[in-house]
Amino acid sequence: MKAAQISRAGGDWELVERDVPEPRAGEVRVQVEACGICHSDVLVKDGLWPGIQYPRVPGHEVAGRIDALGDGVKAWNVGQRVGVGWHGYHCFVCEPCRRGDFAMCVNRRVTGIDFDGGYAEYMIAPAVALAAIPNEVPAEEAGPFMCAGVTVYNALRHSGARAGDVVAVHGIGGLGHLGLQYARRMGFETVAINRGNEKQELAQTLGAHHYIDATASDVVAELQKLGGARVILATAPSAQAISPLVDGLSPSGLLLVPAAPPEPLTISMFSLIKLRSSVAGWYSGTARDSQDTLEFSALSDVHPMIEKYPLDRVAEGYEQMHSGRVRFRIVLEM
Ligand SMILES: [Zn+2]
Ligand SMILES: [Zn+2]
Repeated sequence: MKAAQISRAGGDWELVERDVPEPRAGEVRVQVEACGICHSDVLVKDGLWPGIQYPRVPGHEVAGRIDALGDGVKAWNVGQRVGVGWHGYHCFVCEPCRRGDFAMCVNRRVTGIDFDGGYAEYMIAPAVALAAIPNEVPAEEAGPFMCAGVTVYNALRHSGARAGDVVAVHGIGGLGHLGLQYARRMGFETVAINRGNEKQELAQTLGAHHYIDATASDVVAELQKLGGARVILATAPSAQAISPLVDGLSPSGLLLVPAAPPEPLTISMFSLIKLRSSVAGWYSGTARDSQDTLEFSALSDVHPMIEKYPLDRVAEGYEQMHSGRVRFRIVLEM
């Protein structure tokens, strides 16, 4: 099979021929149809994940079909359409697993980092990492739902915001353009915040009721005119841009950050105390959360905006992703 791998931290993309792998007990082999390129793939490319072993095939936005079953795999069939996302494994025996909190498993593994992922024609996945893809969702759209999609969908549905609440999405990129669609379809009064006005029309098409241009207006004042945001989903990776947003929250509001900016946030506790507000991170979701994301997206007509590249142009697709020139998601097709 063809695969795209990285052989050392900071190494270049290598297109290699590998043997088609065999699934062990509890695993399946997936014939990959599409795999999204995520910003987190930099963790493999540049060796930023502690203990990562090389060579490694990245890719945790995988969509394909089950091609072979390992021993003991129940409830999945050969030929079934499945996705594999960031959450690649949980152990069922650690303390968080015993409490049913599989995303917090202390032995969790990440697809495409702890084991080879979807930048290949085939991959092996633990059965616990599989999400069933609804018929209505094509593979190239299912891929991005497996990381970008589930992260923002799961963050918003656990945010405590209720129908009619003001929810702002900061940044209209790979995560934000999906976050806006989910926020609108979950019944929130949806606010898009971005720099400049080039994305205003798009934001409104995706579902925003309001648009705030962060370069032309005072974001905090604009949010407070709406009564403050019950939730701000901060998706632009800039600590400088995110930190001041806390003053745009409503009482008991939540600044929710699903993707880490490189620098620490600088937030005055006074801002949090006076509004009894909070700042929280959000960690992805399990395979069932990903399947919920796929199902909700099919039900409510949510679509990622994608550019497709064939696997052998992985280097170009990856560069495009990291240049910021691509507006949303890049998907490799096998
Ligand atoms: Zn990702
Ligand atoms: Zn566990």
